[in-house]
Amino acid sequence: MQSTMQDVPLLISRILTHGSALHGSSQVITWTGEGEPRRRSFAEVGARSAKLAHALRDDLGVQGDARVATLMWNNPEHVEAYFAIPSMGAVLHTLNLRLPAEQLVWIVNHAADRVVIANGSLLPLLAPLLPHLKSVEHVVVSGPGDRSLLDGASAQVRVHEYEDLIADKPETYDWPELDERQAAAMCYTSGTTGDPKGVVYSHRSIYLHSMQVNMAQSMGLTDQDTSLIVVPQFHVNAWGLPHATFMTGVNMLMPDRFLQPGPLAEMIESERPTHAAAVPTIWQGLLQELKAKPRDVSSLGQVTIGGSACPPALMAAFDELGMRVCHAWGMTETSPLGTIARPPARVIGTDEEFAYRLTQGRFPASVEARLTGPGGERLPWDGESAGELEVRGPWIAGAYYGGQDAEVLRPADKFSEDGWLKTGDVGTISPDGYLTLTDRAKDVIKSGGEWISSVDLENALMAHPDVAEAAVVAVPDDKWGERPLATVVLKEGATADFATLRAFLADEGKIAKWQLPERWTVIEAVPKTSVGKFDKKVLRGQYAAGDLDVTQI
Ligand code: ADP
Repeated sequence: MQSTMQDVPLLISRILTHGSALHGSSQVITWTGEGEPRRRSFAEVGARSAKLAHALRDDLGVQGDARVATLMWNNPEHVEAYFAIPSMGAVLHTLNLRLPAEQLVWIVNHAADRVVIANGSLLPLLAPLLPHLKSVEHVVVSGPGDRSLLDGASAQVRVHEYEDLIADKPETYDWPELDERQAAAMCYTSGTTGDPKGVVYSHRSIYLHSMQVNMAQSMGLTDQDTSLIVVPQFHVNAWGLPHATFMTGVNMLMPDRFLQPGPLAEMIESERPTHAAAVPTIWQGLLQELKAKPRDVSSLGQVTIGGSACPPALMAAFDELGMRVCHAWGMTETSPLGTIARPPARVIGTDEEFAYRLTQGRFPASVEARLTGPGGERLPWDGESAGELEVRGPWIAGAYYGGQDAEVLRPADKFSEDGWLKTGDVGTISPDGYLTLTDRAKDVIKSGGEWISSVDLENALMAHPDVAEAAVVAVPDDKWGERPLATVVLKEGATADFATLRAFLADEGKIAKWQLPERWTVIEAVPKTSVGKFDKKVLRGQYAAGDLDVTQI
């Protein structure tokens, strides 16, 4: 029997028209570095998105599934691009401005982007790339920056001013009724563990994901909230927050290019956001800043941390400051919300609560999960059996972008034969569905047939008062196959030596004796990837090249 329900496609244009009409007075507030922040209402964002769509179609000839790229910080013009491009039927491609130049060129050419909308402050990055961008015909520039950098950069590219382009366009657009399964946006993985891969989100996947982000069991934000969106819009759609906030009228506080701890602390104190989202490295920086120069950050009732594991010491320090961390796990391929760590009701207020908050969290109803052991066997959800996490669901990628080649579309190390996404993350799942990641499959240390979690060692080390940061990588060992190498960044004036740190790890059985590293080195900073994660590939390379001064104890 057929259902009797209406079949209304889940389109991004519906989020746009709803948000700009019913939450028209909610605001996108943007930090400017000096003086007053910029303030733009959702109603204005809606009208300007329509203007942008007209300009892209009528002046720049954007049609069909043409790719329109953005090279932008978090700001209202980027939000306008987020809505205008997919709503008109084209495909938004957010470019990660922290990628090495050659990777950016590769990605733009791979996606065949026709237009790039860029912030003026990023023209020093864009100008030298332009001659290598084969498909780009138009560059649209927004915000302050030296336009002359583009003079003569490329003969085939026409340069436009964002504000001029949209100035005299109509404030409404007859958004087409698209197929909800059509491409809306694309994002390349940051290549921490290999070549970048294109993930293409549909209108439907983004719509459903936004509803999940808004659920009380997830971020649960309403129009009484202001969300400080530090996670870049070029990083997995800023974790879906621009779409989700527009749905429910949550004010967006956008840092633009002011991502340093000082300005972040200032914007929290003056604009009093109730929610914020970023990767742990941002929060580590903010914590140091607040210790050096205390500010009133009490408005921040909820801080979503994800992208890499939240160190327990960071969570505890935030608790003390009255900011409650909510840990979440996801990846480019999962839109990204995969799990979120809201403890079950029965442990609230008990000793177990903190342990639950430290897990990567519980799977929402639409994300199915299973664990696969080294031999391909299914492992139980007993909180002990560790295997590779595989997931499926309506906002989980089922393939990568890139033509017909099966190895590009569905590489065997990324998708199971029955279509589940292999996450490359290793962990356990408790009987009540909480995920605890122990490592990445590629980072776990395989010592004498046993696994050592590099993340456990790092967390234990970072709990020492003299340690600012620590990264642990596997290095080859004649006897055990692999052993951990501890690379440590010491705080200024720290006195702890390696023997002290090793004893600290062993203390109270925190780390089993056989897992304690015997190789140690002090480094100035942990190398980071384009999205602020520890770049262990670089550390392994430095060790192999003999560039690290390693002490054996
Ligand atoms: P990349 O794979 O290039 O780093 P992503 O941003 O897609 O790009 O990263 C996804 C990965 O980040 C996950 O597979 C996982 O290894 C890691 N990750 C994300 N969130 C967490 C978390 N809360 N705890 C531990 N690891 C996390």
